[in-house]
Amino acid sequence: MADTSRVAVITGGAGGLGIAIAARLSRDATVVLVDLDEARVEAAIRGPLVGCDGITGIACDVSDSESVGQMVSSIVDDLGRIDVLVNAAGIAGLTPLLETTPEAWERTLAVNLNGTFYCAQAVGRVMAGQGGGHIVNIASTSGVRAGFARAAYGTSKAGVIHLTRQLALELAPMGVSVNAVGPGPVATELALSTHTPEMREDYHATIPQARYATPEEVANAVAFLASPTTGYINGETLFVDGGFLASGVDVRSAQARGNLI
Ligand code: NAD
Repeated sequence: MADTSRVAVITGGAGGLGIAIAARLSRDATVVLVDLDEARVEAAIRGPLVGCDGITGIACDVSDSESVGQMVSSIVDDLGRIDVLVNAAGIAGLTPLLETTPEAWERTLAVNLNGTFYCAQAVGRVMAGQGGGHIVNIASTSGVRAGFARAAYGTSKAGVIHLTRQLALELAPMGVSVNAVGPGPVATELALSTHTPEMREDYHATIPQARYATPEEVANAVAFLASPTTGYINGETLFVDGGFLASGVDVRSAQARGNLI
């Protein structure tokens, strides 16, 4: 049964990762899903999240600071506090560098980076006022490792990783911890719609665990960082990537040989 006195807000909550995070956090909190439109939020609550207790939703465009301000005020009016914020709203149009338009660049930064900032700042004020809270930003391995066609996406996620440290530093005196989870590829709508079969094979060949993460594996890492027992972890990015960032050359051939020299 959920501890309904704890309130967790998840942006991008109707997306593949958002739904898994909501299901996981609803075990310990009242959960508010935040996503672009109400129909999408309702579909998540009545579809994959049916049976999870205490989940409500609200529409908000995180790239619009006014929309974020209204969303946060409305949640505080209804529930009185926000203990956990997970910034999972994101877009990932993959475009080769020389074809990336100013509009695509700006939209990617606006949703992934500005949106994270607007939500963390607005909720950070609420958490500072109530004496503490936990913010978990969803970054990506693309924020530290360059990848083809990811100039805008990777740069936005590099920004999220640095913003996480910046927020951790400035909000620590107010009892707020801020960390990030950096997934490698996860089997969600976002990845499956942007990764070609060849790309998927490349990932399998480069990742020591030779597969994509499940959304639940990422949600477990978010729940860990959002838990009151992890108060001294601050400003960190926890990568959930099957060893992707640790891997060097020879992964595919070593796997084919069964790791024998
Ligand atoms: P998804 O497309 O399934 O979900 C993203 C959600 O964000 C959608 O529900 C979408 O409606 C919402 N959203 C988009 N723009 C928004 C806006 N302006 N305001 C509010 N909501 C908005 O994607 P996902 O796989 O669940 O990704 C969630 C997060 O995880 C993203 O930040 C993504 O970059 C990150 N991530 C995903 C993967 C992966 O492989 N799936 C890997 C690393 C990081």
